[in-house]
Amino acid sequence: MALIVQKFGGSSVADRDHIFNVARIVADTYRDGNSVVVVVSAQGDTTDDLMEKAAEITHAPSLREMDMLLASGEQISIALLSMALGELGVKAISLTGWQAGFKTDRNYSKARIRRMETERIESELAKNQVVVVAGFQGLNSHEDVTTLGRGGSDTSAVAIACALKADLCQIYTDVEGVYTADPRIVRSAKKLDVISFDEMLELASLGAQVLNNRSVELAKKYGINLEVLSSLNPVPGTIVKEVVDMEGMLIKGVAKDVNVAVFSLIGVPDQPGVSFKVFSLLSQRKINVDIILQSVGRDNTKDLTFTVPLADKTLAESVLKDALPRLGAKDVKVRDDVAKVSVVGAGMQSYPGVASTMFEALYENNINIHMISTSEIKISVLIDKADADRAVNAIHDAFIN
Ligand code: ADP
Ligand code: ASP
Ligand code: MG
Repeated sequence: MALIVQKFGGSSVADRDHIFNVARIVADTYRDGNSVVVVVSAQGDTTDDLMEKAAEITHAPSLREMDMLLASGEQISIALLSMALGELGVKAISLTGWQAGFKTDRNYSKARIRRMETERIESELAKNQVVVVAGFQGLNSHEDVTTLGRGGSDTSAVAIACALKADLCQIYTDVEGVYTADPRIVRSAKKLDVISFDEMLELASLGAQVLNNRSVELAKKYGINLEVLSSLNPVPGTIVKEVVDMEGMLIKGVAKDVNVAVFSLIGVPDQPGVSFKVFSLLSQRKINVDIILQSVGRDNTKDLTFTVPLADKTLAESVLKDALPRLGAKDVKVRDDVAKVSVVGAGMQSYPGVASTMFEALYENNINIHMISTSEIKISVLIDKADADRAVNAIHDAFIN
């Protein structure tokens, strides 16, 4: 008998028929003699719909109230799924994130899990029933509801798997596994049988929404057996694990991220300490900076260009505008009509020519590159958003077909 955590995303529980489909998968796993903890997301587009409802009221909602609002979506799913399991003759109990023991920090809308108190889940499992937990939510030290950021139910599932030392964590979704690119953008994308934690972490961080990057980080840290598979099609999915045959594919995937804003600070003094001042201002506000480019100094000034997550655009803009006089900069410009497109593969460490193949594919499609960044296992370019899907296809063709 194994302990298995199964997570089902929003599209997998979108309506009555989908909920019964999920209930049957869970019931089969339970009847095979396993202990099962299920984590679910809000149904279909519920989270987006709730965000729109808030926007009808205010354009500057308190993040605390947003978390209170968004957490309600998952609560609907856990109750409905537990009822469906009951209809199939399987004893089940639903638990909110706070009942399930998710203790988070105070960062509303992007809280991190501080610890898991698993007594309640364990005592409910001991009653020989399925435990259905609301993903994406927790409680902070003020006893206020927090959410873990978009796509956070994946992280909830892996966190439970870590805390309970589960034998397996299965992430069920609306595609059959992890592909070499988003199969909705690249029709020839191929399903991967396995991918390493490091490659999956890069792909997830670079926009491949199929797994939340923090869930991969956790799974790697605790050595969780992780599998991504379809809730609609019972075929083998993708295994995410520590080491994968290095002689295998050179490139594991191509990812696109359109949730990017690019800032240019114009005319900052060309002297020591300027970058430190700029980026410490942003880090104090917990804004993550990604690609950074510094122009060559001219007339004792230079330009600093960098990307931040689109969600932080407004905050970053106001922080930088306020700081212009202190930084001695002339102006700040911001664009959000850009996308970051990346190739990922551990094989590129020992294989020259990956960058030139990527840039050639873009050149042949007349796509202009604004910024470039690299690490040992990935190359990213910043391009116009309008070119992004064409770029993903061109790069995918160059490496994978
Ligand atoms: P869920 O609601 O189950 O959490 P998501 O919408 O968050 O599902 O993630 C699944 C989606 O991720 C797929 O429908 C697919 O369009 C997208 N996706 C992006 N990149 C990839 C990739 N490399 N492999 C598989 N799916 C991907
Ligand atoms: N419902 C949340 C979202 O849409 C969490 C999740 O689906 O993982 O982001
Ligand atoms: Mg998701």
